Formats: sequence, C-alpha cells, structure tokens
Amino acid sequence: MMCVAVICADDYCKSIGIDLVITSGNDGVHMVNSLHYVGKAIDIRTNTMTTEQQTSCISYLRERLDYCFDVILESDHIHIEYDENQ
Ligand SMILES: [Zn+2]
Repeated sequence: MMCVAVICADDYCKSIGIDLVITSGNDGVHMVNSLHYVGKAIDIRTNTMTTEQQTSCISYLRERLDYCFDVILESDHIHIEYDENQ
C-alpha cells in the first residue's frame, strides 16, 4: 500500500521540479514498533525543498491519501505511515 504514497509524493516532487528521494523504507533504525519495520512507512527527504514546499507537500499528500495514512513533518524528512488500526 505504500506505493500509493510514493506515487503521490513523486507527483508532488515533479510538480516543483525536484527528484523524489526516499530515505528510508523498511531499513534503517527507527523507534521500537515503528511501522518502518513492517514495510508500512517511508521517509521522504526534504532538504531539497523550501519550508513552503514542505508544508504544501504535506497538504498535497493529506488531501490525496486515504485517512489511514499519517503524514508527519520531521526535522529532515516527511514521514508517511499507513496505520489501518486508526
Ligand atoms: Zn519515518
């Protein structure tokens, strides 16, 4: 199900003329119980976006993704997770 989020994020990046960089999928070190470990979370690099673009990227994703997705702005990335239990 994460591919929907990837496609959406890629659409946004294309619209502002940058390449989408996914910094973390089900690899890397995350919080215990992180949805990254079960392939239900991705991180998108934000250092190529302005603060404004980060904010509009988040609204873009929230508008288009199912309510089960959480889109959260972290210090250097946007974290997107799919939690069907919410
Ligand atoms: Zn993350």
